Amino acid sequence: MHLARFPRLVLGHFPTPLEPLKNISALLGGPKIWIKRDDATGLASGGNKTRKLEFLLADAVEKKADIIITQGATQSNHVRQTIAGAAKIGLPTHALLEKRVSEFGDDYQHNGNVLLDHLLGGEIVAHLPNGTDMQLAMEAHANQLREKGHNPYVIPGGGSNAIGALGYVACAEELLYQSSQQRLRIDIVVHATGSTGTQAGLVAGFSATNSHIPVLGISVRAPKQKQEENVWNLASRTRELIGVPGELSRHAVVANSDYVGEGYGLPTEGTLEAIRLLARHEGILLDPVYSGKGFAGLIDLIRRGHFRQDENIVFVHTGGSVGLFGYRQVLAS
Ligand SMILES: *Cc1c(COP(=O)(O)O)cnc(C)c1O
Repeated sequence: MHLARFPRLVLGHFPTPLEPLKNISALLGGPKIWIKRDDATGLASGGNKTRKLEFLLADAVEKKADIIITQGATQSNHVRQTIAGAAKIGLPTHALLEKRVSEFGDDYQHNGNVLLDHLLGGEIVAHLPNGTDMQLAMEAHANQLREKGHNPYVIPGGGSNAIGALGYVACAEELLYQSSQQRLRIDIVVHATGSTGTQAGLVAGFSATNSHIPVLGISVRAPKQKQEENVWNLASRTRELIGVPGELSRHAVVANSDYVGEGYGLPTEGTLEAIRLLARHEGILLDPVYSGKGFAGLIDLIRRGHFRQDENIVFVHTGGSVGLFGYRQVLAS
């Protein structure tokens, strides 16, 4: 593979730091935890979508798009980063939001990512009920724009297609380079998995480079089997895109759905504990939807003795702290 063959914009600050979580590692008394700071990608408060958007928006430019369309939940970090990335290259974004979560009142509806969506100049063209076929809704909106003579570029939820996943192939390369430089043997990579582009890109990258570092995705929504199937499918398409021969082993894709709790966007006790622990012992902000759940899973697995004491774990911090402001009700109590 040779990623430089794909069109790519510069939207973020890379490489992101790979740092030891000394206090949390000591507190949990288990393996050594490192954190890959993809919350610090720099684009309008950062997050994992920035890496995907470097490839997706470059593709949009190549295709001479004049409007970007994307979708996400009300407090979508992906929508916020898409609007910011598109603003940087002078393109307007039409966002469709889905009311996937209804319990957190005014702050959830208007603060956090929603506030920034507006500030960054995004246009929220629809706020649709939970369960809407959002891809279909985007296609319908795109067709309306085409009838008016526009050339819209549709980015799927989470930026998770093979082009977007290239961003996490690049992250896999970046991690391998940093591990060599820092003489750090990475035994496993752990992160929150949702729309699958992050895990699919990492798995494709680690398999393409024959490093085969295991990746554990902590699911924030789908049950294990479904999540693994979705990740495997996208990882396979991503491998095809970068020219990796052969079939991806099913064993290369592992998701754990034990930490979803009551559902997407609903933080568990463990999520809140993880958010508070990292805030108070490391000065790092996790988020209530993704990274908090992901880290809660990691904490619980460590407590259950899932990892060996001498293992080095890298937690990919995928961002999302802007979402904290949408969850004031939960966090303040
Ligand atoms: C989107 C997102 C994820 C999940 O990444 P996917 O590529 O969609 O699986 C994790 N954390 C944060 C903060 C996100 O915004």
